[in-house]
Amino acid sequence: MLVVGLLIVAAGVTFALRPGGGLADAAPADPDAAKIAGERLLASRDATILVVVAHPDDAEYWAGGTLALLARHNRVVLLMGTSGDKGDAGLVPGLGAIRERLQREAGRILGYRDIVFLRDPDGGLAASTAYPGEVRRAFATYRPTIVVTFDIAEEAAVYHHPDHEAAGRAATAVANDLGGITLYLIHTRAPDVVIDYDAVRTEKARAFTLLGSYRDYAPVVGWLNPALRTIGGRRPLSYGGRAVLPSVGISYGELFREVVVPKR
Ligand SMILES: [Zn+2]
Repeated sequence: MLVVGLLIVAAGVTFALRPGGGLADAAPADPDAAKIAGERLLASRDATILVVVAHPDDAEYWAGGTLALLARHNRVVLLMGTSGDKGDAGLVPGLGAIRERLQREAGRILGYRDIVFLRDPDGGLAASTAYPGEVRRAFATYRPTIVVTFDIAEEAAVYHHPDHEAAGRAATAVANDLGGITLYLIHTRAPDVVIDYDAVRTEKARAFTLLGSYRDYAPVVGWLNPALRTIGGRRPLSYGGRAVLPSVGISYGELFREVVVPKR
């Protein structure tokens, strides 16, 4: 138990200290066009943006900066499929409630209007028969014109976590049925939009680091996590996904694949 706990803490510290993110391999084919597409998205006003993800920190890892910028002039609503209650190995009792609290706090940092916790089983979103209907109802309630979710296109998605795939699949299906929605797909191999989130990079890092701090609640060894993070001075912030595109002057970028679903 102690050894497992220490391994998890080590994984948490490594995760927290990771400087960049996993997106550097998916650069847009045309960075100039991607930058223009990003500026077009950021010009949105009074739109409702529904973010359909599986776990606390999914949205912030890939899109926290973009969502913080959009939240200034639009309504950002997070639809959270699971509360991430399994965590790394199910070692933290009451983890779902802890991660929901951290997610609410992160949402306040980034300016979300609302967060809906569906509380479907962590690791079991694809098997949940309730989930697709819950997603459909959220679209009916919030009537978004912009939707952020996982890329499920076989040729474009980077990898499929079954929960992520279930979220992307459900949201994409409803968007295709309703029409009049632009999808911005995360974790994609074929990005054609880049958002420069330099202006809110600290907010993104604070939110993302906070969401990862659930590991601090591990019994017996959790206290080591914050202690180790502060070795050498200030507690470092982790950015999650971050694309660097020097050719268009972007040091803090988030990538999306844009799919316009026309009005029916
Ligand atoms: Zn996830």
